[in-house]
Amino acid sequence: MSLRFQNTLTGQREEFVPLDGRRVRMYTCGPTVYNYAHIGNYRTFVFQDILRRYLKYKGYELLHVMNITDVDDKIIRDSKAAGLSLREFTDRFAHAFLEDMAALRIDRPEYIARATEHIPEMVELIQRLEARGLTYRTDGSIYFRIAAFPGYGKIARLDLEGIRAGARVEVDEYEKEHPSDFALWKAPKPGEPSWDTALGPGRPGWHIECSAMSMKYLGESFDIHTGGTDLVFPHHANEIAQSEGATGKPFVKYWLHCEHLMVEGKKMSKSQGNVYSLRDLREKGYRPDAIRYVFASVPYRKQLNFTWDGLQQAAASLERLRNFRLRLQTAALPEGQNETLAATIRAAVTGFEEGMDDDLNTAAAMGVVFETVRNLNIHADKGELRTGNAKAALDLLTRFDSVFQVLEPSAAASGAGGDSGLAAKVEALLPQRAEARKRKDFAAADRIRGELQALGVVVEDTKDGVRWKKV
Ligand SMILES: [Zn+2]
Repeated sequence: MSLRFQNTLTGQREEFVPLDGRRVRMYTCGPTVYNYAHIGNYRTFVFQDILRRYLKYKGYELLHVMNITDVDDKIIRDSKAAGLSLREFTDRFAHAFLEDMAALRIDRPEYIARATEHIPEMVELIQRLEARGLTYRTDGSIYFRIAAFPGYGKIARLDLEGIRAGARVEVDEYEKEHPSDFALWKAPKPGEPSWDTALGPGRPGWHIECSAMSMKYLGESFDIHTGGTDLVFPHHANEIAQSEGATGKPFVKYWLHCEHLMVEGKKMSKSQGNVYSLRDLREKGYRPDAIRYVFASVPYRKQLNFTWDGLQQAAASLERLRNFRLRLQTAALPEGQNETLAATIRAAVTGFEEGMDDDLNTAAAMGVVFETVRNLNIHADKGELRTGNAKAALDLLTRFDSVFQVLEPSAAASGAGGDSGLAAKVEALLPQRAEARKRKDFAAADRIRGELQALGVVVEDTKDGVRWKKV
Protein backbone atom coordinates (compact mmCIF):
# COMPACT_ATOMS: atom_id res chain seq x y z
CA MET A 1 0.00 0.00 0.00
CA SER A 2 1.17 3.53 -0.60
CA LEU A 3 1.66 6.34 1.88
CA ARG A 4 -1.29 8.74 2.13
CA PHE A 5 -1.64 12.03 3.96
CA GLN A 6 -4.63 14.10 4.99
CA ASN A 7 -3.82 17.39 3.28
CA THR A 8 -5.09 20.49 5.10
CA LEU A 9 -4.84 22.48 1.86
CA THR A 10 -7.34 20.33 -0.05
CA GLY A 11 -9.19 18.71 2.84
CA GLN A 12 -8.56 15.35 1.13
CA ARG A 13 -6.64 12.17 1.90
CA GLU A 14 -4.03 11.99 -0.89
CA GLU A 15 -1.33 9.60 -2.01
CA PHE A 16 2.12 10.98 -1.24
CA VAL A 17 4.09 11.62 -4.42
CA PRO A 18 7.16 13.84 -3.91
CA LEU A 19 7.90 16.53 -6.49
CA ASP A 20 11.46 15.32 -6.92
CA GLY A 21 11.58 11.49 -7.01
CA ARG A 22 13.01 10.01 -3.82
CA ARG A 23 14.07 13.21 -2.06
CA VAL A 24 11.49 14.81 0.21
CA ARG A 25 11.76 18.53 0.91
CA MET A 26 10.02 19.53 4.12
CA TYR A 27 9.62 22.57 6.35
CA THR A 28 8.53 22.80 10.00
CA CYS A 29 7.61 25.97 11.84
CA GLY A 30 9.94 25.92 14.83
CA PRO A 31 9.83 27.62 18.22
CA THR A 32 9.81 31.28 19.15
CA VAL A 33 12.63 31.31 21.67
CA TYR A 34 11.48 33.58 24.49
CA ASN A 35 10.76 30.77 26.94
CA TYR A 36 11.00 26.99 27.33
CA ALA A 37 8.78 25.27 24.77
CA HIS A 38 5.78 23.51 26.38
CA ILE A 39 4.70 19.92 25.91
CA GLY A 40 2.04 20.94 23.38
CA ASN A 41 4.85 22.28 21.19
CA TYR A 42 6.82 19.09 21.70
CA ARG A 43 3.88 16.96 20.68
CA THR A 44 4.08 18.68 17.28
CA PHE A 45 7.85 18.25 17.07
CA VAL A 46 7.62 14.55 17.98
CA PHE A 47 4.95 14.17 15.27
CA GLN A 48 7.20 15.73 12.65
CA ASP A 49 10.06 13.48 13.86
CA ILE A 50 7.88 10.38 13.43
CA LEU A 51 7.00 11.66 9.96
CA ARG A 52 10.72 12.12 9.18
CA ARG A 53 11.59 8.68 10.43
CA TYR A 54 8.76 6.99 8.58
CA LEU A 55 9.71 8.72 5.33
CA LYS A 56 13.21 7.32 5.82
CA TYR A 57 11.73 3.90 6.62
CA LYS A 58 9.99 4.10 3.23
CA GLY A 59 13.34 4.75 1.56
CA TYR A 60 13.08 8.51 0.99
CA GLU A 61 15.92 10.95 1.49
CA LEU A 62 15.15 14.05 3.47
CA LEU A 63 15.92 17.71 3.17
CA HIS A 64 14.19 19.28 6.14
CA VAL A 65 14.32 22.84 7.47
CA MET A 66 13.11 24.18 10.79
CA ASN A 67 13.18 27.85 11.70
CA ILE A 68 13.94 29.43 15.04
CA THR A 69 12.10 32.71 15.51
CA ASP A 70 14.56 34.88 17.39
CA VAL A 71 13.01 38.32 16.92
CA ASP A 72 9.40 39.27 17.71
CA ASP A 73 7.42 41.40 20.16
CA LYS A 74 7.55 38.95 23.08
CA ILE A 75 11.28 38.34 22.64
CA ILE A 76 11.99 42.07 22.55
CA ARG A 77 9.85 42.65 25.64
CA ASP A 78 11.33 39.77 27.67
CA SER A 79 14.96 40.30 26.66
CA LYS A 80 14.68 43.92 27.81
CA ALA A 81 13.17 42.78 31.10
CA ALA A 82 16.06 40.31 31.53
CA GLY A 83 18.61 43.03 30.69
CA LEU A 84 20.11 40.89 27.91
CA SER A 85 20.81 41.50 24.26
CA LEU A 86 18.44 39.84 21.80
CA ARG A 87 21.13 37.32 20.91
CA GLU A 88 22.13 36.47 24.49
CA PHE A 89 18.50 36.07 25.47
CA THR A 90 17.46 33.91 22.50
CA ASP A 91 20.64 31.79 22.61
CA ARG A 92 19.67 30.62 26.07
CA PHE A 93 16.28 29.28 24.95
CA ALA A 94 17.45 28.07 21.55
CA HIS A 95 20.07 25.99 23.35
CA ALA A 96 17.47 24.62 25.79
CA PHE A 97 15.23 23.74 22.85
CA LEU A 98 17.97 21.71 21.18
CA GLU A 99 18.65 19.90 24.46
CA ASP A 100 14.96 19.03 24.85
CA MET A 101 14.84 17.82 21.25
CA ALA A 102 17.77 15.49 21.95
CA ALA A 103 16.15 14.19 25.15
CA LEU A 104 12.98 13.38 23.19
CA ARG A 105 15.08 11.78 20.43
CA ILE A 106 13.82 14.26 17.85
CA ASP A 107 16.29 14.13 14.98
CA ARG A 108 17.86 17.42 13.97
CA PRO A 109 16.49 18.69 10.68
CA GLU A 110 19.14 19.15 7.99
CA TYR A 111 18.91 22.92 8.50
CA ILE A 112 17.94 24.91 11.57
CA ALA A 113 17.55 28.49 10.38
CA ARG A 114 17.49 31.51 12.67
CA ALA A 115 15.39 34.44 11.52
CA THR A 116 17.94 37.13 12.38
CA GLU A 117 20.51 35.37 10.19
CA HIS A 118 18.24 35.63 7.12
CA ILE A 119 17.26 39.30 7.00
CA PRO A 120 18.67 39.84 3.45
CA GLU A 121 16.55 36.94 2.11
CA MET A 122 13.42 38.44 3.70
CA VAL A 123 14.18 41.89 2.30
CA GLU A 124 14.60 40.44 -1.16
CA LEU A 125 11.30 38.58 -0.94
CA ILE A 126 9.48 41.74 0.18
CA GLN A 127 11.01 43.60 -2.76
CA ARG A 128 9.64 40.95 -5.11
CA LEU A 129 6.17 41.39 -3.59
CA GLU A 130 6.46 45.18 -3.94
CA ALA A 131 7.41 44.79 -7.60
CA ARG A 132 4.26 42.72 -8.14
CA GLY A 133 2.03 45.34 -6.55
CA LEU A 134 1.01 43.17 -3.58
CA THR A 135 2.09 45.57 -0.84
CA TYR A 136 1.56 49.06 0.51
CA ARG A 137 3.48 51.25 2.91
CA THR A 138 2.17 53.04 5.97
CA ASP A 139 4.45 55.05 8.27
CA GLY A 140 7.59 53.08 7.40
CA SER A 141 5.90 49.67 7.70
CA ILE A 142 5.09 47.47 4.71
CA TYR A 143 1.87 45.44 4.57
CA PHE A 144 0.70 42.61 2.35
CA ARG A 145 -2.55 43.58 0.57
CA ILE A 146 -4.65 40.42 0.68
CA ALA A 147 -7.28 41.90 -1.67
CA ALA A 148 -4.61 41.75 -4.41
CA PHE A 149 -4.04 38.00 -3.90
CA PRO A 150 -6.99 35.91 -5.14
CA GLY A 151 -7.59 32.77 -3.09
CA TYR A 152 -6.18 34.24 0.12
CA GLY A 153 -6.96 32.04 3.12
CA LYS A 154 -7.99 29.02 1.04
CA ILE A 155 -6.10 26.70 3.43
CA ALA A 156 -8.27 27.92 6.31
CA ARG A 157 -11.55 27.91 4.28
CA LEU A 158 -11.92 31.56 5.17
CA ASP A 159 -14.84 33.86 4.58
CA LEU A 160 -13.06 37.15 4.04
CA GLU A 161 -16.24 39.10 3.49
CA GLY A 162 -17.38 37.93 6.92
CA ILE A 163 -14.15 39.09 8.50
CA ARG A 164 -14.42 42.48 6.79
CA ALA A 165 -18.02 43.02 7.86
CA GLY A 166 -17.36 41.89 11.44
CA ALA A 167 -14.29 44.04 11.84
CA ARG A 168 -15.52 47.21 10.16
CA VAL A 169 -15.46 49.29 13.31
CA GLU A 170 -11.89 48.34 14.15
CA VAL A 171 -10.68 48.94 10.61
CA ASP A 172 -11.55 52.61 10.89
CA GLU A 173 -9.08 52.98 13.72
CA TYR A 174 -6.42 50.95 12.02
CA GLU A 175 -3.63 51.82 9.62
CA LYS A 176 -4.38 48.72 7.50
CA GLU A 177 -6.71 48.57 4.50
CA HIS A 178 -8.17 45.21 5.51
CA PRO A 179 -8.08 43.67 8.99
CA SER A 180 -6.33 40.56 7.62
CA ASP A 181 -3.60 42.54 5.86
CA PHE A 182 -0.41 41.71 7.69
CA ALA A 183 2.97 43.34 8.27
CA LEU A 184 5.87 42.17 6.13
CA TRP A 185 8.19 44.82 7.54
CA LYS A 186 7.76 46.77 10.75
CA ALA A 187 8.97 50.34 11.11
CA PRO A 188 11.54 50.83 13.88
CA LYS A 189 10.43 51.88 17.34
CA PRO A 190 12.69 53.62 19.86
CA GLY A 191 14.68 51.12 21.90
CA GLU A 192 13.83 48.15 19.66
CA PRO A 193 16.29 46.23 17.51
CA SER A 194 16.24 47.32 13.89
CA TRP A 195 18.10 46.57 10.68
CA ASP A 196 19.10 49.13 8.04
CA THR A 197 18.08 47.66 4.70
CA ALA A 198 17.07 48.66 1.19
CA LEU A 199 13.48 48.73 2.48
CA GLY A 200 14.44 51.31 5.08
CA PRO A 201 15.14 50.64 8.77
CA GLY A 202 13.00 48.17 10.70
CA ARG A 203 12.54 44.50 11.40
CA PRO A 204 10.73 41.66 9.62
CA GLY A 205 7.24 40.45 10.46
CA TRP A 206 6.95 36.87 11.68
CA HIS A 207 5.27 35.39 8.60
CA ILE A 208 7.87 36.50 6.06
CA GLU A 209 10.66 34.59 7.79
CA CYS A 210 9.11 31.18 7.07
CA SER A 211 8.50 31.99 3.39
CA ALA A 212 12.02 33.36 2.92
CA MET A 213 13.89 30.63 4.78
CA SER A 214 11.90 27.69 3.43
CA MET A 215 12.36 28.82 -0.19
CA LYS A 216 16.06 29.56 0.34
CA TYR A 217 16.84 25.96 1.30
CA LEU A 218 14.03 24.00 -0.34
CA GLY A 219 13.25 25.91 -3.53
CA GLU A 220 10.11 27.83 -4.55
CA SER A 221 7.93 24.69 -4.49
CA PHE A 222 8.44 21.83 -2.05
CA ASP A 223 6.68 18.75 -0.69
CA ILE A 224 5.60 19.00 2.95
CA HIS A 225 4.97 21.77 5.44
CA THR A 226 4.16 20.86 9.05
CA GLY A 227 3.11 22.79 12.11
CA GLY A 228 0.59 22.94 14.91
CA THR A 229 -3.06 23.35 13.96
CA ASP A 230 -3.07 26.83 15.57
CA LEU A 231 -0.75 27.98 12.76
CA VAL A 232 -3.17 27.27 9.88
CA PHE A 233 -4.58 30.77 10.16
CA PRO A 234 -3.23 33.30 9.79
CA HIS A 235 0.40 32.12 9.70
CA HIS A 236 0.19 29.49 6.97
CA ALA A 237 -2.39 31.39 4.95
CA ASN A 238 0.11 34.27 4.99
CA GLU A 239 3.09 32.08 4.07
CA ILE A 240 1.16 30.86 1.03
CA ALA A 241 0.16 34.41 0.02
CA GLN A 242 3.76 35.67 0.34
CA SER A 243 5.42 32.77 -1.46
CA GLU A 244 2.89 32.26 -4.25
CA GLY A 245 2.44 36.02 -4.59
CA ALA A 246 6.16 36.39 -5.25
CA THR A 247 6.78 33.31 -7.42
CA GLY A 248 3.45 32.62 -9.13
CA LYS A 249 4.09 28.91 -8.39
CA PRO A 250 2.42 26.52 -5.95
CA PHE A 251 4.30 26.83 -2.65
CA VAL A 252 3.72 23.51 -0.83
CA LYS A 253 2.06 20.30 -1.99
CA TYR A 254 1.07 18.71 1.36
CA TRP A 255 0.20 20.63 4.54
CA LEU A 256 0.17 18.47 7.70
CA HIS A 257 -1.09 19.92 10.96
CA CYS A 258 -0.80 18.43 14.42
CA GLU A 259 -3.74 18.86 16.83
CA HIS A 260 -3.64 20.37 20.31
CA LEU A 261 -2.67 18.68 23.49
CA MET A 262 -4.93 18.90 26.54
CA VAL A 263 -3.73 18.26 30.10
CA GLU A 264 -6.12 16.14 32.19
CA GLY A 265 -8.94 17.17 29.84
CA LYS A 266 -8.21 20.90 30.07
CA LYS A 267 -6.71 23.32 27.61
CA MET A 268 -3.23 24.36 28.69
CA SER A 269 -3.25 27.93 29.94
CA LYS A 270 -1.31 30.09 32.34
CA SER A 271 -4.46 30.82 34.35
CA GLN A 272 -5.08 27.07 34.87
CA GLY A 273 -1.44 26.65 35.92
CA ASN A 274 -1.14 23.61 33.65
CA VAL A 275 1.42 24.78 31.10
CA TYR A 276 4.27 22.29 31.42
CA SER A 277 7.69 22.37 29.85
CA LEU A 278 9.64 19.17 29.30
CA ARG A 279 11.90 20.30 32.14
CA ASP A 280 8.92 20.51 34.52
CA LEU A 281 8.01 16.91 33.77
CA ARG A 282 11.57 15.68 34.13
CA GLU A 283 11.82 17.41 37.51
CA LYS A 284 8.70 15.48 38.55
CA GLY A 285 10.61 12.30 37.69
CA TYR A 286 8.96 11.46 34.34
CA ARG A 287 11.28 10.20 31.66
CA PRO A 288 11.47 11.48 28.11
CA ASP A 289 11.01 7.97 26.64
CA ALA A 290 7.58 7.63 28.32
CA ILE A 291 6.63 11.19 27.31
CA ARG A 292 7.60 10.50 23.70
CA TYR A 293 5.59 7.29 23.81
CA VAL A 294 2.48 9.16 25.02
CA PHE A 295 2.86 11.74 22.22
CA ALA A 296 3.31 9.01 19.62
CA SER A 297 0.39 6.89 20.78
CA VAL A 298 -2.33 9.24 19.50
CA PRO A 299 -2.53 9.99 15.74
CA TYR A 300 -1.36 13.52 15.08
CA ARG A 301 -4.67 14.81 13.75
CA LYS A 302 -6.50 13.82 16.94
CA GLN A 303 -6.49 15.86 20.10
CA LEU A 304 -4.28 14.24 22.75
CA ASN A 305 -5.35 14.18 26.37
CA PHE A 306 -2.14 14.13 28.37
CA THR A 307 -2.68 12.58 31.82
CA TRP A 308 -0.43 11.47 34.68
CA ASP A 309 -2.12 8.07 34.54
CA GLY A 310 -1.33 7.87 30.84
CA LEU A 311 2.33 8.55 31.58
CA GLN A 312 2.44 5.72 34.15
CA GLN A 313 0.76 3.36 31.69
CA ALA A 314 3.22 4.38 29.01
CA ALA A 315 6.12 3.44 31.25
CA ALA A 316 4.48 0.05 31.94
CA SER A 317 3.84 -0.56 28.23
CA LEU A 318 7.46 0.20 27.42
CA GLU A 319 8.58 -2.16 30.16
CA ARG A 320 6.51 -4.97 28.58
CA LEU A 321 8.07 -4.35 25.17
CA ARG A 322 11.59 -4.26 26.62
CA ASN A 323 11.06 -7.44 28.62
CA PHE A 324 9.82 -9.18 25.49
CA ARG A 325 12.83 -8.00 23.54
CA LEU A 326 15.13 -9.24 26.30
CA ARG A 327 13.36 -12.59 26.22
CA LEU A 328 13.94 -12.84 22.46
CA GLN A 329 17.59 -11.92 22.85
CA THR A 330 18.40 -14.26 25.70
CA ALA A 331 16.06 -17.26 25.50
CA ALA A 332 17.58 -20.65 24.67
CA LEU A 333 15.20 -21.67 21.88
CA PRO A 334 14.99 -24.69 19.62
CA GLU A 335 16.36 -24.16 16.10
CA GLY A 336 14.11 -23.62 13.10
CA GLN A 337 10.81 -21.85 12.97
CA ASN A 338 7.18 -22.39 13.76
CA GLU A 339 5.38 -21.61 10.49
CA THR A 340 2.17 -20.34 12.11
CA LEU A 341 4.09 -17.88 14.26
CA ALA A 342 6.22 -16.84 11.26
CA ALA A 343 3.00 -15.93 9.42
CA THR A 344 1.75 -14.00 12.48
CA ILE A 345 4.91 -11.91 12.54
CA ARG A 346 4.83 -11.26 8.78
CA ALA A 347 1.23 -10.07 9.13
CA ALA A 348 2.30 -7.78 11.97
CA VAL A 349 4.95 -6.09 9.78
CA THR A 350 2.28 -5.53 7.12
CA GLY A 351 -0.20 -4.26 9.70
CA PHE A 352 2.37 -1.86 11.15
CA GLU A 353 3.10 -0.41 7.70
CA GLU A 354 -0.58 -0.20 6.75
CA GLY A 355 -1.25 1.77 9.91
CA MET A 356 1.60 4.20 9.26
CA ASP A 357 0.73 4.52 5.57
CA ASP A 358 -2.75 5.62 6.59
CA ASP A 359 -1.85 9.25 7.37
CA LEU A 360 0.50 8.06 10.15
CA ASN A 361 -2.10 6.21 12.20
CA THR A 362 0.34 5.57 15.02
CA ALA A 363 -2.34 4.10 17.29
CA ALA A 364 -3.12 1.39 14.74
CA ALA A 365 0.56 0.68 14.02
CA MET A 366 1.41 0.42 17.73
CA GLY A 367 -1.69 -1.66 18.43
CA VAL A 368 -0.62 -4.30 15.90
CA VAL A 369 2.81 -4.61 17.49
CA PHE A 370 1.50 -4.81 21.06
CA GLU A 371 -1.08 -7.42 20.14
CA THR A 372 1.61 -9.50 18.42
CA VAL A 373 3.94 -9.24 21.41
CA ARG A 374 1.14 -10.41 23.73
CA ASN A 375 0.42 -13.32 21.41
CA LEU A 376 4.06 -14.34 21.02
CA ASN A 377 4.63 -14.24 24.78
CA ILE A 378 1.84 -16.80 25.20
CA HIS A 379 3.38 -19.06 22.56
CA ALA A 380 6.83 -18.62 24.06
CA ASP A 381 5.47 -19.74 27.45
CA LYS A 382 4.25 -22.92 25.74
CA GLY A 383 7.71 -23.51 24.26
CA GLU A 384 6.54 -22.99 20.66
CA LEU A 385 8.83 -20.11 19.77
CA ARG A 386 11.92 -21.09 17.75
CA THR A 387 15.12 -19.23 16.82
CA GLY A 388 13.77 -18.20 13.39
CA ASN A 389 10.68 -16.71 15.03
CA ALA A 390 12.75 -14.83 17.58
CA LYS A 391 14.84 -13.33 14.80
CA ALA A 392 11.73 -12.21 12.88
CA ALA A 393 10.13 -10.81 16.03
CA LEU A 394 13.30 -8.83 16.83
CA ASP A 395 13.18 -7.46 13.30
CA LEU A 396 9.58 -6.36 13.90
CA LEU A 397 10.67 -4.53 17.06
CA THR A 398 13.56 -2.91 15.20
CA ARG A 399 11.16 -1.61 12.54
CA PHE A 400 8.79 -0.35 15.24
CA ASP A 401 11.61 1.42 17.06
CA SER A 402 13.19 2.92 13.94
CA VAL A 403 10.04 5.08 13.81
CA PHE A 404 8.98 5.41 17.45
CA GLN A 405 12.39 5.48 19.22
CA VAL A 406 11.21 4.39 22.64
CA LEU A 407 12.79 1.00 23.32
CA GLU A 408 16.07 2.23 24.78
CA PRO A 409 15.41 3.56 28.28
CA SER A 410 16.16 7.25 28.74
CA ALA A 411 19.23 7.84 30.83
CA ALA A 412 18.45 8.46 34.49
CA ALA A 413 18.93 12.04 35.62
CA SER A 414 22.25 11.10 37.26
CA GLY A 415 23.37 9.51 33.97
CA ALA A 416 26.23 7.07 34.58
CA GLY A 417 27.74 7.16 31.12
CA GLY A 418 24.45 6.87 29.26
CA ASP A 419 22.46 3.81 28.28
CA SER A 420 24.84 2.41 25.71
CA GLY A 421 27.71 2.76 28.20
CA LEU A 422 25.71 0.79 30.74
CA ALA A 423 24.79 -1.95 28.28
CA ALA A 424 28.44 -2.38 27.32
CA LYS A 425 29.49 -2.74 30.97
CA VAL A 426 26.76 -5.28 31.69
CA GLU A 427 27.47 -7.28 28.56
CA ALA A 428 31.12 -7.46 29.63
CA LEU A 429 30.30 -8.60 33.18
CA LEU A 430 27.71 -11.28 32.37
CA PRO A 431 30.11 -13.74 30.66
CA GLN A 432 32.56 -13.32 33.57
CA ARG A 433 29.77 -14.19 35.97
CA ALA A 434 28.80 -17.23 33.91
CA GLU A 435 32.46 -18.35 33.83
CA ALA A 436 32.81 -17.94 37.58
CA ARG A 437 29.69 -20.01 38.21
CA LYS A 438 30.83 -22.68 35.81
CA ARG A 439 34.07 -23.16 37.71
CA LYS A 440 32.10 -22.92 41.00
CA ASP A 441 33.99 -19.79 42.09
CA PHE A 442 31.01 -18.42 44.01
CA ALA A 443 33.00 -15.62 45.66
CA ALA A 444 33.84 -14.22 42.20
CA ALA A 445 30.26 -14.69 41.00
CA ASP A 446 28.94 -12.80 44.04
CA ARG A 447 31.45 -10.02 43.51
CA ILE A 448 30.30 -9.58 39.90
CA ARG A 449 26.66 -9.66 40.96
CA GLY A 450 27.53 -6.86 43.42
CA GLU A 451 29.11 -4.85 40.61
CA LEU A 452 25.96 -5.25 38.54
CA GLN A 453 23.82 -4.16 41.48
CA ALA A 454 25.98 -1.07 41.83
CA LEU A 455 25.12 -0.26 38.19
CA GLY A 456 21.42 -0.51 39.09
CA VAL A 457 21.05 -3.77 37.18
CA VAL A 458 19.25 -6.91 38.28
CA VAL A 459 20.16 -10.28 36.78
CA GLU A 460 17.62 -13.08 36.57
CA ASP A 461 18.39 -16.69 35.76
CA THR A 462 15.38 -18.04 33.86
CA LYS A 463 14.82 -21.32 32.13
CA ASP A 464 15.43 -19.43 28.87
CA GLY A 465 18.81 -18.15 30.04
CA VAL A 466 20.18 -15.07 31.79
CA ARG A 467 18.30 -11.77 31.61
CA TRP A 468 19.18 -8.42 33.02
CA LYS A 469 17.35 -5.18 33.45
CA LYS A 470 17.80 -1.74 34.87
CA VAL A 471 15.76 -1.01 38.00
ZN1 LIG B 1 6.24 29.35 10.13
